[in-house]
Parts: sequence; C-alpha cells; structure tokens
Amino acid sequence: MNKKAIVFISIIILGGTYLLIDNLGPLNQKDVVLIYFLVGMVIVIDRIAIPLPTKQYLHLDTTILLASLAMYGYSLTMWIVLFTNVYVFFYRKLKIWQALFNTSQFLIMLYVAKLVYINAGGMIGEINFVNPWPFFLTAITYMITNGLIISANAFLSDNLSFIRTLSDLFKNSANNYFMMIIYAFILTMLFKVQTYIGSIIFILMVVLMADNYKRYFHLLEKLKEKANCDELTGIYNHRYFQQALKEELKKAGTDHSLSVLFLDIDHFKKYNDTYGHQVGDQVLQQFAGIVASNLPEKAIFARYGGEEFVVLLPDTDSREAYNVAENIRKKIQKASFTGMSVMPYGCLTVSIGLSTYPEISPDGEALVRNADQALYAAKRLGRNKSKIYSIKTDAPKDVAALRSDQELHQLVDSLMSMLKNKDLPTYDHSMRVCQYALAFAEWLNLSSEDRRTLEFGAILHDLGKMEIPREILNKKDSLLDHEWEWVKKHSEYGESLLKNIPELKSILPLVRHHHERYDGKGYPDGLKGEEIPFLTRLLTIVDSFDAMTTNRGYQQTKTYNEAIEELSRCASTQFDPYLLEEFIKMLEKIRDQEHGMLEHVEGV
Ligand code: GH3
Ligand code: MG
Ligand code: MG
Repeated sequence: MNKKAIVFISIIILGGTYLLIDNLGPLNQKDVVLIYFLVGMVIVIDRIAIPLPTKQYLHLDTTILLASLAMYGYSLTMWIVLFTNVYVFFYRKLKIWQALFNTSQFLIMLYVAKLVYINAGGMIGEINFVNPWPFFLTAITYMITNGLIISANAFLSDNLSFIRTLSDLFKNSANNYFMMIIYAFILTMLFKVQTYIGSIIFILMVVLMADNYKRYFHLLEKLKEKANCDELTGIYNHRYFQQALKEELKKAGTDHSLSVLFLDIDHFKKYNDTYGHQVGDQVLQQFAGIVASNLPEKAIFARYGGEEFVVLLPDTDSREAYNVAENIRKKIQKASFTGMSVMPYGCLTVSIGLSTYPEISPDGEALVRNADQALYAAKRLGRNKSKIYSIKTDAPKDVAALRSDQELHQLVDSLMSMLKNKDLPTYDHSMRVCQYALAFAEWLNLSSEDRRTLEFGAILHDLGKMEIPREILNKKDSLLDHEWEWVKKHSEYGESLLKNIPELKSILPLVRHHHERYDGKGYPDGLKGEEIPFLTRLLTIVDSFDAMTTNRGYQQTKTYNEAIEELSRCASTQFDPYLLEEFIKMLEKIRDQEHGMLEHVEGV
C-alpha cells in the first residue's frame, strides 16, 4: 500500500473514532433492546442477496441504517454500525485495519447525512409524509459521500482516475441507489408505525422480492440457453458457434492454439430420399450424440446447419485435433444407424475438414474458410476421411487453373447430351429457355458477366431431371401427388449435380431457385420477393413462358397471346412485376415484328 493511501485510511479511521467518542451517550434499556434487534435485522438482511441483471447482488442493509438515523438518531445508529462491523470482522475474517476503516466510513457517511437531515428541516423520529424531501436529501447525501470515499480510495490506493471511478459508480449503480433510497423511506414509515412488526414485514418483503428475482433470472438464463441451442439435436446452434468462435479466438491470443473441425455426413441426401426426413432427423440426433460423447470436455460442439456440424477445440494443435477427428470418424463408421444399409458402403460415414489457429490459419475468418475447404477436399478424396487444411492442395484454384471457356462449353454439352438422351422434351425446353433468356438479357442490357451466368443457368436449370425416373418424366396423364413431390426435387438435384464444378458456382442459385415464387409460395426454400436472386427471377419468367406455350403432355398449351395474359395475371404473385412488365413489352414487340425466334409457338 502506498503512503498516500495509508494517510487517507488513517484520516478516515481517526475521523470515525472522533465521531464515535464525540457522540457516545447514555443508553436506556429500551435503546439496548432496539439496538440488538436492529443489529440482528442488519445481519439477516445482509444475508438476503437480491440478484441483479449484471450478475451482481444487491444487499439492503444500508436501508436499515438510513431509516434508523431518521427515526432513532445518530447515537443509536452508531451502535448498530459498531456491532454489525464486529460481526462482519469475524464473519468475513477481515484484517483489523479493514474493519476499522469500514466502520469509520459508515460513521462519517451517516454523520454527514445527519447534518443534511437536520439542516434541511428534518426531525429525528418524525418522518414528515407531506414533506419527505429532507429524508430523500439525506439519503442522496449518504450515497454521494459513499461514492466520494470509494473513489478517493481507488485513486489513492490503486491510482485509478477519481472522476472516472465516481462517474462509473453513479452510472452503473444509479438504479440500485434509487432502489435503496425508496426502500429506506418505506422502512422508515414502517418503523414509525411499529418498529418490530414493521421490521418483520420489511424482511418478508425483501425475502419475497429476492426470491422472485432469483426465479426470474433463472428463467432468463434458461431462455438464453434455449436460444443458443439447436432444437433437433440439443447441441449448440450456428449463432452460438459464431459467438463462441470470437470469444475463443480472443482467449487464444497469440500463444494458444484453437482448432476447428467441420463435419459433414456423407451422402445424407440419399438417406432422406429413401426413408424420409423423420428418419433422417433421428439419424442426425444419434449422430450428434455419438460425436458429443467422443469429444474432450473443453470442446464446443454446434450444428452448423443441415447435416453439417462444427467443433471448436480450444488449446488444441492440429495433430491433436486430427486425432479427435479420426476417432469420431471411426466411431461413426462403426455405429449402427437404422436403415444404414442403403448407404454406398452399407454404413453411415462422415467427412471432416480441420484447421488450426494460428498454426495454419492466421485469423478467425481464415480458420473457418480453411476448415471448410479441407472438408471439401476430404469429400473430393472419396469421403469418410479427416483432412487437415493444406494450402497446396485445398486452396481454391486460381483463375488460370479454371477450365477455359471452350472446355466449359464442352462440359456443358456433355451434360446436356445426357439429359437429351433421358428426357428430350426437357432438353428442347432448356435450349429454348436459353434463347429467350439471352434475348431478354439483351433487352435489359445486362452486363456480359450476367449474360454468361444466365446462359449457363438457363441451359442447365432442369438438369436435375436426370435423377427423376423415366416413367414419371414420360407420363402422359396428370401426375399423382407423390410423383409431383419427386418432380419438385429436380431443382435441388440439379444444384447437387453441379455444385462441384467451380466454374459454374454462379449458376447454382438459378438452378436451385428457379421455382421460387415472388409471393414466397414456391419451392424448395419459399424465398420471397427480392430474396430470390435477380437473374433467377428473370429465368423464372422465361421458363414459365416456355412451359405455357409448349405442349408438355400434362398441361394444355396456350397461345402466344393467352400466355401473355396468363403471365400478367400472375404478376406479383408468381413473378417480379417489374421484370414481367419488361418481358411482356419485349414479347409484344417481337410479336409485332413477327420475329422468327418464336416460330414454334402456335398462334403468333
Ligand atoms: P455429401 O457427401 O456431398 O455431403 O452428400 P450429401 O447428400 O450429404 O450432401 P447434400 O448437401 O447434397 O445434401 C444434404 C442433405 O441433408 C439435404 C437434405 O436432404 C439433408 N438435410 C439437411 N438438413 C436436414 C434436416 O434438418 N433434417 C433432415 N432429415 N435432413 C436434412
Ligand atoms: Mg452438406
Ligand atoms: Mg453431406
């Protein structure tokens, strides 16, 4: 302790001692009983902790001192301070100077408060309900003196800024000070009516309040936990993972490791497609359970989304993390899951990508990105693997390494020839949609990049039909419900078929979402309005126009004019109204010019 602090503490102790000696007076038997009672009350109230939102606790013992000061005067209150501090000295095992300093602080604060009370017109033992201001002024003075002493002590002992400590104290504790003042006023009124009964009522009130707060905060904690948990698996959710990642990175600083594992169940779609989502959900739950029981205690395990999971491993280098990953991978492969015989190798498997901060990835963003890329690499290497991120093999290829335009066209041609072989009408439809889409892109004066995305997106948008049985595709009658459900999957199938071709990444939203509706009633994700990407909204219009004007077996063909009418009818529900207006303008212009491009459409 420095010299200044010693001087300050000595002054406070001397001041307190002087006040004590100066105010000692005779006590009668009634006073002694009252003092004992109030000391007991302070001790009881001190044991009742009222929880606060800041996770601290509030104790209301000060309210008794203030009420006692107003009702029974300084001399009597002084004794309460003295006895309760003797109790605190033994109970909290304080050093003697600390006990003397605390006692003296109280004596000084109460003395200053008393001076204010008398000078403001307050009368000891007479609480004036019509003019309660002397009391409030006294209580406020007490709190201010308290703040001043605490701040002076912080300044002298710990070299903290006096003003900063004082302002922080009042900012953070204003509510608590206000609450204490009000409670002190209530207690003073209760004392006035009947000291002993009033005190018991007051204690009951505080006990009930503390209990209610405790329950309330407990409930709040539970809600918070729930908000951080994934409903299906009970483990943490994506939101919590992001928050935990930030916190763990901060904790890791520069000299601790933090590893991340990304886990993705292999071929899970097949599971769902065979048994339905309910069984899929059960498998996800079981999967999460097995992983959770094979993780070190410090691990944070979350569902990243769908059938992807993530594990944060604080203080774990890449080797240790790899061992954790391999152990999980083997346990999953050995575990028994209902219906796992449909999986390619007769068992459920998982691919795991991992990365470590700061050893492999320099920051949080790279950590997640690299673990994700390592996972992607593990999938490419044949699945059922754990893979540590390596910049040599897993970093995305640079532009030069991507396929040339010619190679890409060849690839798309091969894909389309497979579709042509399986489903000729869809192939023809795709080619026409591509033509319309490019004409529309020209009309809208889109950038060359958008035109290119639209071109490939339009050609490949129905590629997912490759996965639908021929009997359904070729059926002449209307489709049954379950057949429709199958057909509706083609947009997701298409995305899945194309997702591993990096050059076609930009068209994936067009493939996946080309059956979304502007009003949100489309599939597969029910996206609404501008949530549907711009080029996809455009493709949807073109796609529907061709579907309306072409004979597809299960629906009646519309004439060119009927199709325009039908499109207008669905403005805003199914289509983006602005884009539709433009598309109709374009169609009308073409109709007027009898453009050859529309030759196949009947009734132009
Ligand atoms: P890969 O080996 O490439 O990971 O193949 P995959 O089939 O697992 O991957 P893909 O991303 O194509 O499909 C993931 C599937 O996970 C799609 C969806 O059917 C399923 N899925 C996602 N979330 C849930 C869910 O909450 N419950 C169920 N039952 N299935 C889900
Ligand atoms: Mg996945
Ligand atoms: Mg998967």
